[in-house]
Amino acid sequence: MAGKPKVAICWLGGCGGCDEAIVDINEEILHLVEAVDVVLWPVALDFKYDHVDRMEDGAIALSVINGNVRNADQEEMAKLLRRKSQLVLAFGTCACFGGTPGLANLRTKKDIFDWVYRDAPTVVNPEKSFPQTKVSRDGGVLTLPEFYEQVYPLNQIVDVDYYLAGCPPPPDLIINAFMAVLEGKLPPRGSTLAPHKALCDTCERNKTKPSRIAIRDIKRIHEVEAQSNTCFLAQGIMCMGPATRTGCGETCIKINIPCRGCFGPVEGVKDAGAKYISALASIIDAEDEKDIKRILDKMNDEVGYLYRFSVPSSILRKRRTNEAEEL
Ligand code: SF4
Ligand code: SF4
Repeated sequence: MAGKPKVAICWLGGCGGCDEAIVDINEEILHLVEAVDVVLWPVALDFKYDHVDRMEDGAIALSVINGNVRNADQEEMAKLLRRKSQLVLAFGTCACFGGTPGLANLRTKKDIFDWVYRDAPTVVNPEKSFPQTKVSRDGGVLTLPEFYEQVYPLNQIVDVDYYLAGCPPPPDLIINAFMAVLEGKLPPRGSTLAPHKALCDTCERNKTKPSRIAIRDIKRIHEVEAQSNTCFLAQGIMCMGPATRTGCGETCIKINIPCRGCFGPVEGVKDAGAKYISALASIIDAEDEKDIKRILDKMNDEVGYLYRFSVPSSILRKRRTNEAEEL
């Protein structure tokens, strides 16, 4: 194995779908494992933390890190891999922007603990015990990683060299990313390894989009029978395509589901939600303020729609709380 570039793949706060996506590159995975020396991949191989810790700093050519950072264990792993790696790739939407678990930033840690360990109808916890970071029991000490007050995207914890969004990233972009590293054909550091255009620019339905859209109503996908060959926005159905980076292969659009924005903002845009609000403002055909409110109220869950994947990396970041509310 000497001489092959060392690669680490690690899962922090995510669902496992991103690890699954790597397996989903099918037979290409055989070429990949031929070309690299995998030194860590907890979901697939039995390497231990110490194995990585003992390596020289910078010994790993590439660490592919998926998931966000929500606890002390994940932070420690992210920092260890950063120290040991020449390049870090934030892989998947959770690592890039916080992902859907980042919606938890709309709640406090106390809200979450109260629900999960006390109030949820399936919980049986008569002693009302909550997880502690340190517990002495039977002469020994048990420890748990600290659960943080909020979810962080990877770049709020360590420096990230490259980004590949997607929930999860699609096989062609995963293969391209690995090939770019192996062939030394990487774009400038900080780049996203996906096209720079918006989804609308590559969407088949774009040709059905009228030059001027004017919507009097916002419809949610489950409330209507969407036409399968017409732009969702032209049908008054929320679609995040104008504010979202393309590269996903329009997998949702092709099965008649509007874009939810998992690829994150288009190049140069910091906040996809704000960008979408501005796009929406230009197409809402309202009489007056009351009418605007009537139309926007149909969205029902504004943050869930506009920031489903990106609360921790958006300008919102997290819900503000009084100190008294914190655990
Ligand atoms: S980006 Fe999507 S697939 Fe990947 S870990 Fe997060 S939720 Fe799962
Ligand atoms: S708004 Fe949605 S359906 Fe319409 S062109 Fe853009 S991505 Fe396609």
